[in-house]
Amino acid sequence: MSVKGSSSKGASVREIFSTMEYGPAPEADDVARDWLKRHGNRFGHYIGGRFTEPVSGEYFATQHPGDASELAQVAQGDEADVAAAVAAAKEALPAWQQLGPHGRARYLYALARHMQKHARLLAVVEALDNGKPIRETRDLDVPLAARHFYHHAGWAQLLESEFAGYEGVGVCGQIIPWNFPLLMLSWKVAPALAAGNTVVLKPAEFTPLSALLFAELASEVGLPAGVLNIVTGDGRTGAALVGNEGLDKVAFTGSTEVGRSIRKATAGRGLKLSLELGGKSPFIVFDDADIDGAVEGVVDAIWFNQGQVCCAGSRLLVQESVAQRLEAKLIERMEKLREGPSLDKSIDIGAIIAPVQLSKIERLVQQGRDEGYACFQPSWSVPKDGWYYPPTLFSNVSPAATIAQEEIFGPVIVSMTFRTPEEAVELANDSRYGLAASVWTENVNLALDVAPKLKAGVVWVNCTNVFDAAAGFGGYRESGFGREGGREGMYEYLKPSFVPGLPKYSSEELAAPAGADELDAGVRESSATPGLPAIDRTPKLFIGGKQKRPDGNYVYPVVGEGGKRVGQAPLGNRKDVRDAVEAADKSAAWTKNTAHGRAQVLYYLAENLSLRAPEFEERLRALTGADRKAAEREVHASIARLFSYAAWADKYDGSVHPTPMRNVTLAMNEPWDVLAVVAPEEAPLLGFVSLVAPALAMGNRVVAVPSSKAPLAATDLYQVFETSDLPAGAVNIVTGVKDELAGVLAKHDAVQAMWYFGSREGSEVVERESAGNLKATWVNFGRKRDWYDPVQGEGREFLRHATRVKNIWVPYGE
Ligand code: ADP
Repeated sequence: MSVKGSSSKGASVREIFSTMEYGPAPEADDVARDWLKRHGNRFGHYIGGRFTEPVSGEYFATQHPGDASELAQVAQGDEADVAAAVAAAKEALPAWQQLGPHGRARYLYALARHMQKHARLLAVVEALDNGKPIRETRDLDVPLAARHFYHHAGWAQLLESEFAGYEGVGVCGQIIPWNFPLLMLSWKVAPALAAGNTVVLKPAEFTPLSALLFAELASEVGLPAGVLNIVTGDGRTGAALVGNEGLDKVAFTGSTEVGRSIRKATAGRGLKLSLELGGKSPFIVFDDADIDGAVEGVVDAIWFNQGQVCCAGSRLLVQESVAQRLEAKLIERMEKLREGPSLDKSIDIGAIIAPVQLSKIERLVQQGRDEGYACFQPSWSVPKDGWYYPPTLFSNVSPAATIAQEEIFGPVIVSMTFRTPEEAVELANDSRYGLAASVWTENVNLALDVAPKLKAGVVWVNCTNVFDAAAGFGGYRESGFGREGGREGMYEYLKPSFVPGLPKYSSEELAAPAGADELDAGVRESSATPGLPAIDRTPKLFIGGKQKRPDGNYVYPVVGEGGKRVGQAPLGNRKDVRDAVEAADKSAAWTKNTAHGRAQVLYYLAENLSLRAPEFEERLRALTGADRKAAEREVHASIARLFSYAAWADKYDGSVHPTPMRNVTLAMNEPWDVLAVVAPEEAPLLGFVSLVAPALAMGNRVVAVPSSKAPLAATDLYQVFETSDLPAGAVNIVTGVKDELAGVLAKHDAVQAMWYFGSREGSEVVERESAGNLKATWVNFGRKRDWYDPVQGEGREFLRHATRVKNIWVPYGE
């Protein structure tokens, strides 16, 4: 504690002790100012290993939010700059790949070391450019950023053994926000380089400096030219990067709105995409919580980084019996917070990033006031010369209020109360977002009961806003998809090595079933009893455990090899899809089943399929023209596949990360709730089983669209499902024109993830239409897998797509 400031005002030591007043304790900024001066306070892009002028010659100012002063001029990138950067990244790729895991590990290690050596410079530059407290950049942003490079130096080294059969995706376009500029850079650049990719990164327009400094450090450690490129600029530069055709992967952190536009812009381009978007995270306090601890937790949840944190605990949910006590303590604590210049080591809260953000906060707070909610702000006033906003608490807010639903991205928390744990979970999940949640209770049973019920990618028990490179971070719902950090984060930058070599479907293979657009008058199968008409065997849809007629009552002819009619199938429409999704959504029984229980059902399915094997073989022969041997092979492979996933059901488990600060972090593989699956045209039984079985094994409720041309291989399974103890609604099947049904499923907000195996065009539709609720998609871009090949047709790749990882942080020790 420094008492310099106070004593200069003439306070006695006794007075200082009684008030516990802090004086200012400024960190010197000369290192950063010297660095800026060395560059003439002006920076071009960093492309191909050197700083280059922007093609347009256009520059803009980056300012210090603490006093609005200009720090430097930086280049405004356009399409031409982006193209040069992508070209440099492409050129650097082969040599970077050839360098191999150990070579790349050495560079990542060197980067981590070099960041540590320049930690003070990085911390000061970051605090100046962002306006956040130096205490945070020094103790959190910079050390964690270095930690990410160390961790990923490790993944680079272990790449061949731990990710056998995978390779880097290629050139990565990465766009990051301004709230944790260096940390977000490290979350993106470290895994990309470790996986053998090259990068073009665009920092946010408000905070480009630490990325440019990092580029300089990369040059100093000799990172080969072109492996890392930085193009600065605003949203237009970001859009130009996303639009560049040379990319193999886009990774974005920022607002949900921009995330959605990126999802649409990249649809069908064969890119990998990960999005880390907004949040409105709940901070839940039960009545047995350590209330003083929880108050400090709230400070870290919402006033850390001025509340400009995507996972900020911005909704305070307190059990009714302790709400008043907690609020009183919180208000007392708010009075003691200090807000001011970022380089003052004794401040808690710095400045807001920019006037535009400040006005957004002011507008939403005014709206809360106008709607009549009680608003508390401390009695002290904020500095006038920068963009400051005081810590703010709204009490007794209705869960539906705008301030309870919209992300404010500032130092504003809204509170509400609950009575029971069930109500707490319901309130917590009453959000379109799902990034993080914090749970406060001394009862470990309660904490671990509630954590899996929260729709959030990260759950902190008795802690908040803690991060580590070993633990994945990322969202549920409209908070995006994909994870950063840990093993799951590495997969975002890798692809199975066999994928680029997969053949494309021929147009014939993908043609819609003949006659699907005409109403079928109906064909009668020939009667076994002379003189009597055949009994109609037209299958129905399978929804909520029941066989149902399609809404439109239409059927279409199923034509087998040589144009011979084999039967009819229902022509499902959007109403049928909606019914199927609703049935899946409601049927929680399957997800609640134990892993062992799910395995038993999958074995039972295999057993019942095996009993009917000859019937399925006949069907496949008629549908596909396969000879007896080939039909037997497909049925046999389908039975074996069910066995595989019965085996996997209780073996694809999560892990426990030894994260720092006396935590165990439980990485749990959770199902998506409702997973939609669109099966391939070929291998109508095996392709269908290969997708539905892993989805079921992981506890998903499935809506499946089988092969359009040969749907009867799937509809014949109804009786197998009905006799195998599968709960109603666990699998729902809608037949019809595949790409039409796929479009409806992709748009549906109750579907959280979707797999599509069909044409390139269909893949594009699925990706584009998924932007509404930002469901995670897995599509084949019109490439054909070999479903018989165990590498391509089954295993961990499927299980990974059938789950999302939730990291639950549990601290220990007294
Ligand atoms: P925030 O609310 O955090 O400012 P944004 O999504 O606006 O979130 O910004 C995050 C990053 O995305 C920034 O680097 C910004 O320049 C960039 N960006 C903004 N608009 C677009 C766009 N249309 N396409 C690509 N990137 C964009």
